[in-house]
Amino acid sequence: MSRKIAIIGAGPSGCYLAQALLKLDKELEVDILDRLPVPYGLVRYGVAPDHQGTKAVTRQFARLFERQGVNFVGNLDICTGDHGGDISLAELRELYDVTVLATGLSRDRDLGVPGCDLDGVIGAGELTRHWNDHPDSHELTPPETGKRVVVVGNGNVAMDVLRILSKGAGDYEGSDFGPHHADHLAAAGIERIDVVGRSPAHLAKFDPVMVKEIAKAEGLAFRIGDLGLSEGEAEDPRLAALAHLEGASSESPRCEIHFHFGWAPVAFAGEGHVAEAHFARADGSETLELACDMAVTAVGFCDDGRLGREALVEGATDLESGRLAPGLYAAGWFRRGPRGTIPENRADSQAVAQAILDDLAGLPENGKPGRAALLERFDQLTDYEGWQRIDAAERAASEGAPGGRVRAKVRNRRDMLRLALNLMETTP
Ligand SMILES: Cc1cc2nc3c(=O)[nH]c(=O)nc-3n(C[C@H](O)[C@H](O)[C@H](O)COP(=O)(O)OP(=O)(O)OC[C@H]3O[C@@H](n4cnc5c(N)ncnc54)[C@H](O)[C@@H]3O)c2cc1C
Repeated sequence: MSRKIAIIGAGPSGCYLAQALLKLDKELEVDILDRLPVPYGLVRYGVAPDHQGTKAVTRQFARLFERQGVNFVGNLDICTGDHGGDISLAELRELYDVTVLATGLSRDRDLGVPGCDLDGVIGAGELTRHWNDHPDSHELTPPETGKRVVVVGNGNVAMDVLRILSKGAGDYEGSDFGPHHADHLAAAGIERIDVVGRSPAHLAKFDPVMVKEIAKAEGLAFRIGDLGLSEGEAEDPRLAALAHLEGASSESPRCEIHFHFGWAPVAFAGEGHVAEAHFARADGSETLELACDMAVTAVGFCDDGRLGREALVEGATDLESGRLAPGLYAAGWFRRGPRGTIPENRADSQAVAQAILDDLAGLPENGKPGRAALLERFDQLTDYEGWQRIDAAERAASEGAPGGRVRAKVRNRRDMLRLALNLMETTP
């Protein structure tokens, strides 16, 4: 009898974990569960739509479902009892020998300064979900950028936001950025973007390649202000990337991009809607006030609270190797916080897989029902074949359409389910 493993979360860490588990023991029955009808987490709904090379990691993950017998069980929201959802974590654990939380960290970290709740202040996670056509964003009003945007943060997510905001309407060929988003941005005609980071330029968290890439769009002028440097720090690759940008400035720009380093956010101000973002030097010696129609905070991510992460992590028996409690484990961003790229989740997942196998070795087999019990209880679960139908429909919809997109995403849950479950067309 094979052991049954439920991995909650079909993002990179869940997929890498399934890979690692099956490498250690091919007899395991591994199910990857997700609240969405489709797999791949932030690869589909976080990674920028114009970074298709990064999204191609899904081809590697697809082998799990196509060749290695892993089951995808989509459209199943798992929560602690008091957060709604389809099934509680406690109930799910009863069905499997091992349950792993690989649900990531999806909430934008709050900057914690006055004015964060003004209209027009938006987290980078929310904005990128919107641009990636996440089904939870479908009903929401498209964010209005206005002519001036302030981006707070200087990591790679901030650079993604900056790049998308600054591209011209024709710069999205080969991406899956919906033409509706491109048209919306083009109509706004953003004239100025200020990017403000807390650290000096040589300590900024962005990857220099990400900065250089921004210069590829036409019609931009770059203004690099005070880098906040001390002597001897002039050789840093981040500084070289910024110098490259400055050199690539257009003489008749449609949009100016200003970088500011060494400024801590202090407040957002405005009457109901953000109109200014306020910053100060760490020692309080200077202040900076920037007018804006939208402010994007790209300062990290945190837990959405629906799986009681805080208590689980606090009470973990051995968080380092992913052990939360007997039979319950954590992997990826959920385990170690919102740090690291897609490949960095691999080593993490390998360590957790080893801990799971070590623990299972000492336990008797007890015939848990696993997926069969879920299929009996829920009639709207999606599977990998369902995802393949969505995938095929999205690719087909973009073929021959203007704009040269690689896919036209299905944007709402109802249409996803219609395709995935092979249902007849429903009335809107
Ligand atoms: C905006 C953004 C851009 C990024 N760009 C890049 C990039 O270009 N390159 C790169 O290498 N890295 C990038 N990263 C980092 C990368 O996305 C992460 O390292 C990686 O996705 C973390 O994987 P994960 O599996 O832990 O979490 P996630 O990818 O978030 O996957 C979690 C999964 O769990 C599911 N889930 C959540 N809650 C529940 C629940 N209650 N029940 C059932 N399912 C649930 C979610 O639907 C999701 O599918 C980016 C991150 C962000 C936020």
